[in-house]
Amino acid sequence: MTGTTQDDYTDRYARRVRGMTTSEIRALFAVASRPEVVSLAGGSPYIAALPLDAVGEMLNRLGAEQGATSLQYGIGQGTIELREQICEVMSLSGITGASPDDVVVTVGGQQALDLLARLFLDPGDVVLAEGPTYVGALGVFQAAQAQVRHVAMDQDGLIPAALEEALRESPRAKFLYTIPTFQNPAGVTLSEERREQILDICERAGLLVIEDDPYGMLSFEEDAPRPLRARRREGVFYCSTFSKTFAPGLRVGWVLTPHAVREKLVMMSEANVLCPSAFAQGAVTQYLTTMPWREQIKVYREIYRERRDALLSALTDLMPAGTTWTRPGGGLFVWATLPDGLDSKAMMPRAIAARVAYVPGTGFYADGTGRGNMRLNFSFSAPDRLREGVRRLSGVMDQELAT
Ligand code: PMP
Repeated sequence: MTGTTQDDYTDRYARRVRGMTTSEIRALFAVASRPEVVSLAGGSPYIAALPLDAVGEMLNRLGAEQGATSLQYGIGQGTIELREQICEVMSLSGITGASPDDVVVTVGGQQALDLLARLFLDPGDVVLAEGPTYVGALGVFQAAQAQVRHVAMDQDGLIPAALEEALRESPRAKFLYTIPTFQNPAGVTLSEERREQILDICERAGLLVIEDDPYGMLSFEEDAPRPLRARRREGVFYCSTFSKTFAPGLRVGWVLTPHAVREKLVMMSEANVLCPSAFAQGAVTQYLTTMPWREQIKVYREIYRERRDALLSALTDLMPAGTTWTRPGGGLFVWATLPDGLDSKAMMPRAIAARVAYVPGTGFYADGTGRGNMRLNFSFSAPDRLREGVRRLSGVMDQELAT
């Protein structure tokens, strides 16, 4: 080995590293965060909407009054205080009667997915997931050397017949990974009726379900349908996070697991991080017990609803004919389908030159499809910036269509 370039190490990497490529979103962050670029990429919540001074004081108190525990190691499963609070948070979504004993606190929702993948996936195993699906989950499944088979969605979420078809082709699939509510990236929600159908299909096939629900509380009109876990206790792993309802920088999420699996999941997490951050857990516990967090969620909802409306009306007014998009009832994202012949990935450098960024649809599929799509985020930019972003984007698309 001579230099420090990556090539010198290529032969030494584990097999699981070979297929790994930089996430398109991460690569985009650098350019998209330049001030002159209107970023419709990324998925950052609008943290400026938090009462930051009050949160700062709360963190000071946490250090001063509870430093001996919040700066110390904790237990792998997470503190009992936080797990009790998490059960209360889940009861608001309709998951009642969950035991804190079956909650495992994780380092963001992301580690929840990683732990479940480590627990269930051997190399070559098949995972069923919506097409498109969350890019971070694709990274986890790829690192586990699993194969992702996408299942089609429409406006009402995952299509039951498509799931049955996927199961006929992959009867030994290990689990279904699904984001039923305000899906990332598609912005669609699985209907009430389909929730029951999907659960019945999974139950009949003995297929485990990983339900990922970071956005369920961010509804703009009526409340979201109850989670899958509220309907079935066994066979469903419910993952969520405080990243979108409070603060992603704290990296606190959780899994509600069937009781039998809880111990293994904790062991897996201990091998991974020993324990989640005691300070971050203390911060979330304090936030939930001393601050008006339910009102804060309403604040987020209102801001995001206004921004969604601004994005949707800009799309209606400005997008070239033949473009279509979803109308999310909550969450952070709109999924757009481009007119025939446009390629969102190839168009990206031109969009950046025009000072607008989005995420090409290809990032959300394991198989390279999605060139005709893009994900547009509306949580982070103010309404007038969103409109300006769409104006720039439609200019780029008009040019592409004219050549
Ligand atoms: N699942 C989905 C569907 C997400 O969109 C995200 C965050 N973008 C996560 C999990 C991970 O959340 P966290 O930031 O809490 O790790």
